[in-house]
Amino acid sequence: MNTKLLNKNDIDEAAAILRSGGLVGIPTETVYGLGANGLDPRAVGRIFEAKGRPQDNPLILHVPSADWLERWCVDVPETAYTLAGRFWPGPLTMILKRGPEVPDVVTAGLDTVGMRCPDHPVCRAILFAAGVPVAAPSGNTSGRPSPTTAAHMMEDMDGRIDAIVDGGPCAVGVESAIIDLTVTPPRLLRPGGITLEQLREVLGEVAVDDAVTRQMADGEKPRAPGMKYRHYAPKAPVTVVAGEAIFSAAWIAAHAGEGDGVICFDEFAGQFPAQTVERLGPTYDHAEHARRVFDALRAFDKTDVPAIWAQCPDISGLGLAVTNRLNKAAGFHIVEV
Ligand code: AMP
Ligand code: MG
Repeated sequence: MNTKLLNKNDIDEAAAILRSGGLVGIPTETVYGLGANGLDPRAVGRIFEAKGRPQDNPLILHVPSADWLERWCVDVPETAYTLAGRFWPGPLTMILKRGPEVPDVVTAGLDTVGMRCPDHPVCRAILFAAGVPVAAPSGNTSGRPSPTTAAHMMEDMDGRIDAIVDGGPCAVGVESAIIDLTVTPPRLLRPGGITLEQLREVLGEVAVDDAVTRQMADGEKPRAPGMKYRHYAPKAPVTVVAGEAIFSAAWIAAHAGEGDGVICFDEFAGQFPAQTVERLGPTYDHAEHARRVFDALRAFDKTDVPAIWAQCPDISGLGLAVTNRLNKAAGFHIVEV
């Protein structure tokens, strides 16, 4: 299959491919998504094939506005509309009770469905033009870092999908926050573009799922099936070095081998002359870390570094999502300094 590179003016063509059962790479404010008509089980099935994604890892339904919640969900709580009013369009996915018309393949057979209204002009235009909810996970091959540019998505999906729409680099850079509203108190399943602090401001108490901060043991049943899989990983093994930035930098400088890869904050980039360095941005700029983290991980796959050492932000604001992605990329191989 020849994967067409479309641009922001090709909205109608992208929507037509989706309506006819094809797969389209779609820019969003978080990461590029791999979209299919969410009402067409065959089209959705092709997403799993293109990514090599395990069948028990559910997808998110993307809609152009909160009005669509009633069409695809049942027993929608008032808090869902409050959150939508505050954060939609935006990087927040809500887990709600699924309606009867949502195909099993979208939810991996769960009785809940993830709903999101993305904040990207090109994505919104495609959703409106398609007129159907678009099922999409991130547009990477399963297990690899998520794509934040059309070129990154092309690396993984060239020849496997019908088209990718280039909407420029993603403004947020990490995936949506996922909040489960079917439990009390609401539970954060994945930290993301809307922060835990923002969610607590609106909801009061919010529980944080265990899977956010630690690896699931074999045989343990996670709340979302996808949580148990290896994620975001470059080819070389990653070790996260957690702690005060000056100490983690010193630890990496003392332990990294010649020719290893290092992910570090800008202020420390000069401390690794014998290593290949990818910068995350200034130490306290979590928004920049979020924009940079997947690009940094992905960049090492173009090198032959045998190992990667990563500094890691504190967990305030977007730092929680960045820390979670780095820890998962490392398979929770973490050194505390
Ligand atoms: P991705 O954005 O590529 O990680 O794919 C969608 C994410 O949403 C995965 O982490 C899924 O586990 C999660 N997800 C989708 N639907 C549900 C659901 N009904 N319950 C819990 N998590 C979900
Ligand atoms: Mg993903």
